[in-house]
Amino acid sequence: MREPAPWHQGTWQSLTMQQHFAHAYLFSGQAGCGKRRFATAFAAFLLCDAPAAGIACDQCRSCHLRLAGSHPDLLLLEPEEEGKAIRVDAVRQLVDFISQTAQQGGRKVVLLRPAEAMNLNAANALLKSLEEPSAETYLLLVSDQPSRLLPTIRSRCRVQPLELPAPEQAAVWLSEQLPERSAQDCSLLLQMAGGAPLRAMALAQLDALSQREKVVEGIKALLKGQIAPSRLAEQWNPLPIELLLDWFCAWTLDLLKLQQGAVETAASADMDKVLGYMAKKVEIAQLLAWQDWLLEHRRLFASKANLNRVLFLEKALVQWKNLLERR
Ligand SMILES: [Zn+2]
Repeated sequence: MREPAPWHQGTWQSLTMQQHFAHAYLFSGQAGCGKRRFATAFAAFLLCDAPAAGIACDQCRSCHLRLAGSHPDLLLLEPEEEGKAIRVDAVRQLVDFISQTAQQGGRKVVLLRPAEAMNLNAANALLKSLEEPSAETYLLLVSDQPSRLLPTIRSRCRVQPLELPAPEQAAVWLSEQLPERSAQDCSLLLQMAGGAPLRAMALAQLDALSQREKVVEGIKALLKGQIAPSRLAEQWNPLPIELLLDWFCAWTLDLLKLQQGAVETAASADMDKVLGYMAKKVEIAQLLAWQDWLLEHRRLFASKANLNRVLFLEKALVQWKNLLERR
């Protein structure tokens, strides 16, 4: 990708038109807002010998090397597997890379994502290079959770926040990317993605809509007493846990708003009837206790704690069902 997402054009122009670039940038923003795309395009721009119309030309020798994935002056550091830490040997790679002179005689660029996946060793190696910047070397960090970075790292980077598009712009963009999907599907995908278009695209690729349909059917059967929590938990075991957690968190928020009379319909349209019914029955104290429990578990799963998924799902479903029973 040599161009940022359309909603980041303004930010892109004010960044690339500067006379001097900072030694290190931290691109922050919600997951799926287009940070990686922005940073990748910026790396391409920095390495290009003759950017055209404000973006990498894709024609010069440097661009050809980059497009072939073999640019010697571009180092991409990411976890081997999504969600895992950036390993120590990656740190050595980083140190070596920074100490070498540029092989193409121009700039060197390190793209590191997600920056919060660095362990302490990696972070210390990075810190050293931030403290003693070498000329014409640029560090591009990408993070959804900049608060998890060492403050000493954050303070040495120029922080460039990247925003989400307006909802209408997100909807138009997504329907252009997914012409086979209905407007309703696109709007549900965006809602599941918290308004982040690239996250919505990833969800579409995960076939999240049909999984969602199964989950909503499961919830209905559970509340009608047609299926036991343990059975449903087993059925849901293959589904991505972070999706299930996101959905339950969103439904819980919907329930709270409905229960308090803050809204009349749930934001999750496919659960509107179920949530509307539940909202009439739930007690606020019980709902808040459930929300605390749920958020705590979402945090545990996000920190890669070793939890038994089926057991967690079963407990969650028992509690969800119990929301309907006054104590
Ligand atoms: Zn070029």
